[in-house]
Amino acid sequence: MTQDHTHDIDPQTQLHTTYVYGPVPSRRLGVSLGVNPLPVETKVCNFDCPYCECGWTVSDRPAGNMPRFETLAAELEAKLRQCQAQGIRLDAITFAGNGEPTLHPRFRDLVEETCQLRDRYAPQAKVAVLTNATRLRRPEVRAGLQRADIRQFKLDAGTEAMFRRVDRPYGQLTLARIVEDICAFDGPKMLQSMFFRGVSAGAPIDNTTPEEVAAWLGHVARIQPTEVHLYSLDRTPAEATLEKVSRAELEAIAERVRALGIPAETF
Ligand code: SF4
Repeated sequence: MTQDHTHDIDPQTQLHTTYVYGPVPSRRLGVSLGVNPLPVETKVCNFDCPYCECGWTVSDRPAGNMPRFETLAAELEAKLRQCQAQGIRLDAITFAGNGEPTLHPRFRDLVEETCQLRDRYAPQAKVAVLTNATRLRRPEVRAGLQRADIRQFKLDAGTEAMFRRVDRPYGQLTLARIVEDICAFDGPKMLQSMFFRGVSAGAPIDNTTPEEVAAWLGHVARIQPTEVHLYSLDRTPAEATLEKVSRAELEAIAERVRALGIPAETF
């Protein structure tokens, strides 16, 4: 999952080069310190979205190069101390980085430690997690997400066919299962949705068609999120032939979300 900025990123691999990065002004979360609980040399995700800002997925399995809990905690504390000493007021500490953050084997402990460090050094900051919502059936992942202040679940498609193309999931993951799991998640939840068009894997792709948006709105209505964030491409995507959709188009979709009585913002 990717936050919207270009700091601490290797221009060759498009990966974050550190476990803690920023703080940077985030379009969605304000002044945000990023936590990347994933390797710095390899993206690890169970999706392979063609729009991903970290390049194509190499593996969906946490390997031996996952950062250790102790290393992450120490780096986060050092950075929070530094921010405090420099008088930087953080709005958020955000789990994102080089893939899907809930794949870290100690994700729940990391969120707990982050909340405790936040209380000590930046009590005003919200702890946020950007996730593709694929691991909500795991009790320890749910517990970590429930401990966070903000959860943003990815929802990029209305139909299974589009889901398989815009998110390119590993294994047997289905959109129906993900929507069901988000609905069942106990606690306030936000959605983040990426809209784009172009060519992917040699064929046209467009998740803004009337049929796709109508089906996507059906999922949004069922989930009843506290808010929906709609955005389009920002940095270079894995698939270079993709195109950004205009802010006006995003706004038109956002209006339809608002018509359901659900707040929506475009970025
Ligand atoms: S969920 Fe998609 S956008 Fe997020 S890290 Fe994985 S491949 Fe990239």
